[in-house]
Parts: sequence; structure tokens; C-alpha cells
Amino acid sequence: MFKIKRDDLVEVQKGRERGKRGKVRQVLTDRDRAVIADVNIMKKHVKPGTRARQAGIIDIEVPIRLANLALVCDKCGKPTRVGFRILDDGTRARFCKKCSELT
Ligand SMILES: [Zn+2]
Repeated sequence: MFKIKRDDLVEVQKGRERGKRGKVRQVLTDRDRAVIADVNIMKKHVKPGTRARQAGIIDIEVPIRLANLALVCDKCGKPTRVGFRILDDGTRARFCKKCSELT
């Protein structure tokens, strides 16, 4: 089970986007990276005819390494590490290591 999943709010911990927060759009498990909405934007020039899109400059969200991301706890609002615990009904739940709340 991955610590970060789709629709999580995360904060970038390293690199030029450090400190930025965004929602996880997609987790690329085979590459250990995640695409974060509106974070790590790269402008890309597109020539006419190469794709169905119009020619010009498009914004691309470049995937960020999962190791450089921290989950933002929805309970305490801080970037945190997460742990897992087994609930009484046997399911695995994620919890915040800062405030111990399930997240
Ligand atoms: Zn918390």
C-alpha cells in the first residue's frame, strides 16, 4: 500500500517547488512519482499537427518523486509522515504521525 494516493493534499519537500501544496492528480507507482495539480509546471512548445491539440505553448505538470512529497494531514494541516495501523475490523488505516489522527 502506498502512503500517498490520488486526491491527497501534499506538500513538496525538496527542489525548486519546495513548500508548494497541491492535490495529487495521479500516482505513477511504477516510477515512484506523482503528478500534483498546478505544481512543477513546465511550459512545452507544441508544433502544429503533432497532436490533436492546437499549436502553441502548453503547461505540463511534471511528476515529482514520492520521496520528495509529504502528505498534508487533513486533521492538523501539517505536512507529515504517515504510519499504518490495523483497525478492529482488520482493515489497514493510515494515520498522521504528528497528531495520531486517522487520515
Ligand atoms: Zn495530523
